[in-house]
Amino acid sequence: MSVCTRCGGKPFYTRRYSGETLCADCFLDSIAEKTKRTVSKYRMFGPHERIAVAVSGGKDSLSLLRVLSDLYLPRRNEIIAISVDEGVVGYRDEALEHARAVAKELGVEQVVVSYKDLFGFSLDEALDWKDRPVSSCSFCGVFRRRAIDEVATRAKATVVATAHNLDDYIQTFMMNLMHGDIERLGWLDPAYADDSFPVRRVKPFMEIYEEEVALYAFQVGVPFQSVSCPYMHEGLRSEVRDYLNMMEASHPGMKNVLLRSSLDVISRFARSSEKESVPCRSCGRPSSSGLCNVCRMKAEVEEHVNIQRNPRAAGGG
Ligand code: SF4
Ligand code: ZN
Repeated sequence: MSVCTRCGGKPFYTRRYSGETLCADCFLDSIAEKTKRTVSKYRMFGPHERIAVAVSGGKDSLSLLRVLSDLYLPRRNEIIAISVDEGVVGYRDEALEHARAVAKELGVEQVVVSYKDLFGFSLDEALDWKDRPVSSCSFCGVFRRRAIDEVATRAKATVVATAHNLDDYIQTFMMNLMHGDIERLGWLDPAYADDSFPVRRVKPFMEIYEEEVALYAFQVGVPFQSVSCPYMHEGLRSEVRDYLNMMEASHPGMKNVLLRSSLDVISRFARSSEKESVPCRSCGRPSSSGLCNVCRMKAEVEEHVNIQRNPRAAGGG
């Protein structure tokens, strides 16, 4: 019978791409070690930084909050959990409840902002419009990125950590290729500083397989969500995910190789992808055309949807 390659204990997980067999404790340690290596390789956090972890309440973000709290709270970094309530009745409430419980257990402050407060409409209200030019998730993502910036800035964070894992990373790389979005490749460079985000963004799980993050979540008892977003429409992404999973099953380690190749290609595009920007005439944030995506889409929503205005909504998000 095989035993843990590290300590000789009871086998729990075999990393097919490396041939390593690990017991449950050594597996959990290995996730923390991999995260720490990625953070240090890309110099994601400086000493005593105030780190905002973007916590949706899903298993990946709750796992990231736990790993970063374990690793960096003892090093006198400050950690806060920032969450966005898009306003999807019956879906986000459960996730935010999970986020609240895990943040409390870890002794981490949680700050929540809602689309309704920031933009004047909930996602349910905004999507009540049939002929939208973009998919629900692309639409939602534009507002979510702004909301995260807003809450991170208010919370005086110096860096935002998101839970994108290795699978997310290579899927995005492949999708950019398939859409012909070559200039966006450079934006995936871990060292790329996007000036349209006022607070730096990092992805400490970008070298960890999605399967391993899920296993970590399960093993440490991170709560799993029982419902998924009713607007979720992944289209091409789920086809790319299935294809990459199939390749990994027949060629273990293929995803790691693809990550290395992607990073190599991306680094060659990084310089040429630097964007020229001008201030948005509505909110003053950087934009490519004088009106940022958030202000443009917000105006479109207001034109098409009869929304109940929230008096606290900030102009331009
Ligand atoms: Fe927004 Fe799509 Fe996530 Fe739903 S699944 S919250 S629409 S990004
Ligand atoms: Zn704007």
